[in-house]
Amino acid sequence: MEARSILHVDMDAFYASVEVRDRPELAGLPVIVGHPGPRGVVAAASYAVRRFGVRSAMPIASALRLCPQAIVVPPRIGRYREVSAQAFAIFESFTPLVEPLSLDEAFLDVTASRRLLGEPVAIAERLRRKVREEIGLTASVGVAPNKLVAKIASDLRKPDGLCRIGAEELPHALDDLPIERLWGIGAKTLPRVHAAGIRSFRDLRSAPEETLRTLFGRHAEAMRRRAAGFDERPVVRPGEERSISAECTFESDLDDPSALRTELARLVDRVGTRLRRTDAAAAQVAIKVRTSDFATSHRQRSFEPPARDTATLWRLADAMLSEWLAERPRTPIRLLGVAVSDLETGTQVDLFEPPGARASRIDTTVDEVRRRFGAARILRANQIRRQPR
Ligand SMILES: [Mg+2]
Repeated sequence: MEARSILHVDMDAFYASVEVRDRPELAGLPVIVGHPGPRGVVAAASYAVRRFGVRSAMPIASALRLCPQAIVVPPRIGRYREVSAQAFAIFESFTPLVEPLSLDEAFLDVTASRRLLGEPVAIAERLRRKVREEIGLTASVGVAPNKLVAKIASDLRKPDGLCRIGAEELPHALDDLPIERLWGIGAKTLPRVHAAGIRSFRDLRSAPEETLRTLFGRHAEAMRRRAAGFDERPVVRPGEERSISAECTFESDLDDPSALRTELARLVDRVGTRLRRTDAAAAQVAIKVRTSDFATSHRQRSFEPPARDTATLWRLADAMLSEWLAERPRTPIRLLGVAVSDLETGTQVDLFEPPGARASRIDTTVDEVRRRFGAARILRANQIRRQPR
């Protein structure tokens, strides 16, 4: 298994930096970008004004109390978009695998660029230099084996910094960081996490199972893995599949549970085959049910670890459909759909993979027969609709 090299690039104080660059007389001054007025909030703050405690999303009035001499500049989103496009053109000169998070932030998967462009740190340095020389702005970059750690790293040496955290340094490189830096720990969760005695990544990583279960429910194990710096989410280009779905509108509405289960099995099977073809595993399954009056309901279930075998997907989808049917027996159904999401790439599937992450031997055989002879040639037993007698 080859380790991935992921960059998280984050332009420093982006809107404010663009304003300062376009109006050199503002250089070094405390600049706030935002609409002045009683309800305005800080859209961006230059580093000169951050020293006073001014932060993004703060009301402008509060910011001006902290720093009365700050210069408030109204935002020019069109301008930021132009500069953003220039920055992304630079990012894309290093790899086609660029996932934008906002106008000034992106993940880059440079795994395949290493052979041509060198070590990821060298790539990051060249990228930072190019951004500085060609658009006159600074960017901070985190280099890591995955998105989670790259994003943490880019923040550690801001502004104008470069920080690498290698796979060999995990999990210890993260251990002393405050837990609020972990993706998934928001302002709402934080007090509960603190109350449980968890303040650092190390605390969470080594917390008793019971504690994590109380805090995070079914996400307990996932959170422990995150705190240890594991993250298998792929870098996804916009428009690329983030979910895989299949649905079917029936010629005439169906209300027979066994007929519906047969249809569901077909859909799960199609989705499972496509999932394995993209070499991904899914951590969420959803079903979609549309009744004859066009009311649509969705049910979804997340699970850990991610799976790619049809049997696992079927078990969850079938349970959700059964619940739905139990609540509304004999409701005529017009459309049924299945989707998997929270996709993770196959590159990380390794020796420690849990059974569901691997396609079962049946799946592999079915996929192979279909590939060679076409989808219609093979049906699983649960896809054969019993003839009504
Ligand atoms: Mg930024």
